[in-house]
Amino acid sequence: MLKNKVFMRTKISCIGMVITTHRLKKENILIVLDRDGTLIEDKGFLGKNPDWKYDVKLKKEVVEFIASVQRKYSTTKIVVSNQSGVARGNFDCRTVEEINKHISQLLEKNGIKIDNWQYCPCVDFEYAKSKKEKINFNPEFVREKTKRKPSPDMVYDALKALNKKLSDFSRVIVLGDKNEDKEMAKNINAKFIGSNNKTYGQMLKEFEAGTQLKL
Ligand SMILES: [Mg+2]
Repeated sequence: MLKNKVFMRTKISCIGMVITTHRLKKENILIVLDRDGTLIEDKGFLGKNPDWKYDVKLKKEVVEFIASVQRKYSTTKIVVSNQSGVARGNFDCRTVEEINKHISQLLEKNGIKIDNWQYCPCVDFEYAKSKKEKINFNPEFVREKTKRKPSPDMVYDALKALNKKLSDFSRVIVLGDKNEDKEMAKNINAKFIGSNNKTYGQMLKEFEAGTQLKL
């Protein structure tokens, strides 16, 4: 009899634990972010000016949107950025990394931690050829094939660094300001949210529109 009572108690507490765990489980969301023009205001080849720090301005609506999503969901946040300014000779890779670090610190002050940063300093042969009359590209950064958006390669590099894969997430969104971001979203079967001239409320509405939780 006593044995049975102990068994009953164990069974009840186990059921309780299962219910609690299920309630606390949040949906996993991957947020792929563009940098210039999305996370920060686009000043055009940021880093060309040695006093670039004065030009870094976070975009408040985007910051508030990310903060809102991460309050409700479990999020992984990565930044993928085309930085052709390196191939153009406007600045070097070290400057790009210093800028990324600075933005990362500003975001952390707003409660947002970026899990991985990726950038592409190279341009494709075709791209360089089409602009060679005006721009003297650094041949070291001109390649036959690059990871520039709309290629999804930078997203895959970020996920690899985090030991994750796209299928780990129930939703993947790309937040960006240009067509290359939109095209990249298509390439990874993600939902694209354009950040241009939108309030965080409008972006949230788009984020939640037509989505169904995977149960
Ligand atoms: Mg952009």
